[in-house]
Amino acid sequence: REQTDPVLQLENINVSFDGFKALTDLSLQIGVGELRCIIGPNGAGKTTLMDVITGKTRPDNGRVLYDQSIDLTTLSPVEIARIGIGRKFQKPTVFEALTVFENLEIALKTDKSVWACLRARLNGEQQDRIDEVLKLLRLGSERQRPAGLLSHGQKQFLEIGMLLVQDPHLLLLDEPAAGMTDAETDYTAELFRTLAGQHSLMVVEHDMGFVETIADHVTVLHQGQVLAEGSLREVQANEQVIEVYLGR
Ligand code: ADP
Repeated sequence: REQTDPVLQLENINVSFDGFKALTDLSLQIGVGELRCIIGPNGAGKTTLMDVITGKTRPDNGRVLYDQSIDLTTLSPVEIARIGIGRKFQKPTVFEALTVFENLEIALKTDKSVWACLRARLNGEQQDRIDEVLKLLRLGSERQRPAGLLSHGQKQFLEIGMLLVQDPHLLLLDEPAAGMTDAETDYTAELFRTLAGQHSLMVVEHDMGFVETIADHVTVLHQGQVLAEGSLREVQANEQVIEVYLGR
């Protein structure tokens, strides 16, 4: 595998909640343009890991270096989003009463309130960016529909679109294929492979079939630590991983 510069370096991260260690001395590195899957059983620390990167949870110690220079643990969640880190939670959260286009418009103009944003005219460049994202997400024919009328999968795509109009460098996605039809899941995989390279992606996923189609590199978390790392084939052959998933 070709080595690229790291976009993200977590160094010796510890997080505890009332004495319970959710992450223990966790170190992890993601390369520029990489598509990384994070897997692991419930309670392994996957959500906490995402929370630490996005500034929602402050680690007890350790550093999270972005672009080899900025320590994210010193920034607020808003500042972290502004420097180009976008996060999508498992449940889609779109503005149901607004059209697909308006949802993307709001995402693009995060500096304004919702209503100020809908009144402000888009410039040509912003208009082009939205059109490009609509096409990429296959939502072109839905642009004037209220988002509440979209299928679950289309809402997921719209939310990914709301991240993409902001042109993030690093995308964090929590179970993006959950609740999708097979066709939507296939398109999500294709989309992620298209986005990788231009963007770095970190995907928390339970569906191993989906992991197999998207990721060149997998990290297995267990009890707040990295248990194994490598290709899916490599980690699936790892004795400790087998024990965690099948044992007990
Ligand atoms: P995963 O996403 O892999 O299922 P989490 O990161 O959600 O795991 O949780 C890791 C562990 O930390 C779990 O045992 C969970 O109960 C605990 N935990 C997470 N957040 C909190 C919190 N705010 N307070 C107390 N315990 C928490």
